[in-house]
Formats: sequence, C-alpha cells, structure tokens
Amino acid sequence: MTLQPTENPQTSAPVRVRFAPSPTGRLHIGGARTAIYNWAYARATGGTFILRIEDTDPERSTDENVRIILDAMRWMELFWDEGPGVEGSVGPYFQTQRMESYALALEELKKNGHAYPCFCSKETLDAKRAEAERTEGGYAGYDGTCRNIPPEEAAARIAAGEPHVWRLKVPRDHGPIVFHDAVYGPMSFPAEVMDDMILVRSDGTPTYNFAVVCDDANMGITHVIRGDDHLSNTPRQILVYEALGRPVPTFAHLPMILGPDGKKLSKRHGATSVEEYRDEGILPDALVNFLALLGWSLDGETTVISREELCRAFSLDRINRKDAVFDETKLAWLNGVYIRQMSVDEWLAAAKPWFAQAQVAGALETGAAEIDFNDALAEVDENREFYAALYPLIIERLTRFDEIPAKLSYFFWGDNVVLDEASVKKVLLKEGAQADEALRACRGVLADESIAWACDPLQEACRALCEPLGMKAKLLFQPLRVSICGNMVSPPLFESIELMDRADVLSRIDKTLDRVFHVEKELS
Ligand code: GLU
Repeated sequence: MTLQPTENPQTSAPVRVRFAPSPTGRLHIGGARTAIYNWAYARATGGTFILRIEDTDPERSTDENVRIILDAMRWMELFWDEGPGVEGSVGPYFQTQRMESYALALEELKKNGHAYPCFCSKETLDAKRAEAERTEGGYAGYDGTCRNIPPEEAAARIAAGEPHVWRLKVPRDHGPIVFHDAVYGPMSFPAEVMDDMILVRSDGTPTYNFAVVCDDANMGITHVIRGDDHLSNTPRQILVYEALGRPVPTFAHLPMILGPDGKKLSKRHGATSVEEYRDEGILPDALVNFLALLGWSLDGETTVISREELCRAFSLDRINRKDAVFDETKLAWLNGVYIRQMSVDEWLAAAKPWFAQAQVAGALETGAAEIDFNDALAEVDENREFYAALYPLIIERLTRFDEIPAKLSYFFWGDNVVLDEASVKKVLLKEGAQADEALRACRGVLADESIAWACDPLQEACRALCEPLGMKAKLLFQPLRVSICGNMVSPPLFESIELMDRADVLSRIDKTLDRVFHVEKELS
C-alpha cells in the first residue's frame, strides 16, 4: 500500500487548531509562540482555537503548572474558544479526563486488527537492544516477536493476567509515509524504519503518540501547528490516523528558537518563560508582537504589528523555515515602543508594582526602616499625582518596567543620599572641577525661598551662577545631580528637584559635602 500525498479532506472544513501544552513546567517562549500561531491562525480563518492540557505524565505534570500556563495564556490575551473553563462539544480538555476515549480507540484497533498485545518483558527488550547495539551497531526498534501470536493464545495469556502492552501493527507493505508540511513542504519517511510502537502501556495508560492522535481526531483538528521537535513523531502519528481510519490533518512544524549564540534557547540565555518576561515588566502586547514575528513575517519589514493586524494577516505560508534567533535587545526596544503608546493612566496602572518596588529599594539602599510592599502599593494610590509627574521624566528611555526601581529609587531616600562611587570619582573628585564650590553655590540658590520651587526658575537661578563662578553649566549641574540623585545618569535633574522636598534636597547636598569633601555643616 503506497500512500500518496493527498489533499487533506479537511482543508475546506472550518479550521480547528489546538495548543496542547504538557504541564511539566512553565510556559516556555517556544510554546508561547506555538500558542500565538495557533490562535492567530484560528482568528485569521474564522476558525476555532482549542486549548488542551496534555497531563498524562503523572510524575511531571502538576496542577500548579496548569495554573501557571493558563495564567500566562490569559495574560497574553490568547483566549481559547474551547478548553479548560470553556466547555465545548468535544471536551473534556485534560487528557487525564479522556482515558475512556483512548480505551475506545484501542478497542477499535483491536477489532480491525491494527493493534496486538505484546508480552515481551522490559528485561527481554533491554537485552535485545544491548545485543543489537553490540553486534549490529544500533537498535532498529521492536522486532515484532509478538506480532504473530495467534489471537486465541494471546487472549488466553491476557485472561491469565500476563502483563502486556498494546502495539500498532504497522503494515509491512506500507510504502514511504509522505505528507505535505505547511512550512517545510513535501516530507517522506520510510515506513520500514517504523517499528510497531507501543500505543498503550502495561498499566493501561496511552503513549503520547497514541493519545495525541486520538484527541486530534476526536476534536476534529484540521491543522496541527507545533514545534519541529515533533516532526519525527508525525510519520508515526500518521500511521495511527490510518489505522483508525481517520483523516490526517495538515501539519505545520515551526522552526526552533535559538539564542544569540546559535544554540537552542535555554535557561543559559536568561529568561525563557512567559512568566519571567511578565515579571521583568514586558507588556503582553509587546511579547505577542515580538514572538509572532519570530519566525513569521507580514512583509519582511514590519516590526510593530497589532493583534488586530496579526489576526487579520496571519498565514501558514509566511512562516520561515529557518530557525529564529531570539534577540533580547529587540524585545526591549519593542516593549519601549508599546510603553510609549500607553496613556498616562495605563502606564500608572502597569507601573504601580514597580513604583512600590522603588520605595522598598529606596529604604533598603539608605538603610531606613523596611517598607512593606503592600503599604508601598497603597502609597502609590494615595499619591497618584506625584507618580503621574514621573511619567515625562522617564518615559522616553524606559524599555522595561523593572528598570523603574533602580532608576527612581532616589526619590525615596528622604533626606539621605546614596553616592555611586564611580560618579563620585568622575564628577565630584574630578581634578580642577571645583565640584565643592559648585555644590555650595547651587545650595545657596536652592535654599533661597524667594525662588519658586519649580523646575524652570530653579534651573535658571542656578545657571546664572555660571558666569560669576566662571564655570560651564555641565560642571555646575553634574555635581548637583550626583549629590541629589546619587549618580551622573539619572533622569532630568531640575524636573526631579521640583518633585522633592526642599529640606531633603538641601540635606542631600550637605551630606555629600560632608562625606566627599569633609565640609562640616556650616551652611544652613
Ligand atoms: N504536549 C506536547 C508538548 O507539550 C505537544 C504535542 C503536540 O503539539 O502535538 O510538547
């Protein structure tokens, strides 16, 4: 029997796709991209997006991981049409709740002669494997020992309680297994190398290749879009579809995601789960945009694409065959683009936990009494205006929300200052800079209550010191910046000063003079 690549009978049917994570860990970036492609394809075709939890590995699957995956999907706003919590007609959507359907499918295969029981013990098989590796240079798979046991004998051994698995009876005259991958094009695998794989283990549980086909067939999946680490499973799965007499869906295997060093993206490269990116302050829209274009392109140029556009334009034929390289810098840049598209209100809501974190950090850095995170959150609500005023100070250069605590903790130092050593050396102790003189002069201006406590008048009054002191503005302002904000690269100085307390600002200058130049408090 030779199978020709045929048009999938389901291609004209409404699209039904699924994302089928195993809850053995968090949602990995690669899995998230697979989810996005399935979701976008369903949306682009008016189809149905199904979420199925493949939790048949009892040792590695946990409820906690299920929760984390569902949370990550919701956070990315990849809402499913059928799946956990959204019952459809082909549920349930957890494999552990579908055991009956696998048993029924096995019955069908037993009846039509496509499955047979195998009584070979693990020890026997291990010994055969070791022998083949020693004498034949490799194990070609199960040798079919139990394939021809007469049905009556098999039935008697089963009835006697002999442990057994169920194997697929791969037709010996099956020509190459061919299919047309929507990404990689025509594929062909020799059937001779496919041994009679196990469908159901001796404990009655289905193997991955069996369960996944039963589910995809029973859920009416038309397109299987998944990582190309599953490519080698596909010919085996096609054999199961054929044995069950069910139509084979279209397959689209997605190239890998590599780290910048060309190796498969892994923990070594940094954050790899959706949760971690969320916690770093990456926005869901930015992550979805970034991952969508990691292996698929609209036109080869577009880097910023909205969900709407993605859901309108997504197609399988523009998926790249080459592995994609994950560029962290590009993600940060893109996130910055999305941050700047937010209204101040949206920005405040998203930044709130990081403002609270900045308060906590400020207290920690100065050695002040510890601040409770929840109290800090409440403080942000109470002082909304203050936080809104921070927006123009940092919005232009913010790429991730987790930069906020380090960038803004100086606002929470009170009357104290934490001086960055490198900035002290480079700015305050710079030879011939007379930074102490600059600081004292500026302090005089900032202490002058006749000058309005606002950015422009304070800046102008300080700038007016340049001439009498014979100093360039930079030499005047940089020491001031270090003494108030702690370093030479802070957000805009006078805009910051305006948002602070006069007494705190003066105290910080005094402390700097004292610590760096050992000037006693003779000024106030
Ligand atoms: N549960 C499998 C995984 O997480 C996916 C199976 C599939 O998409 O066919 O890798």
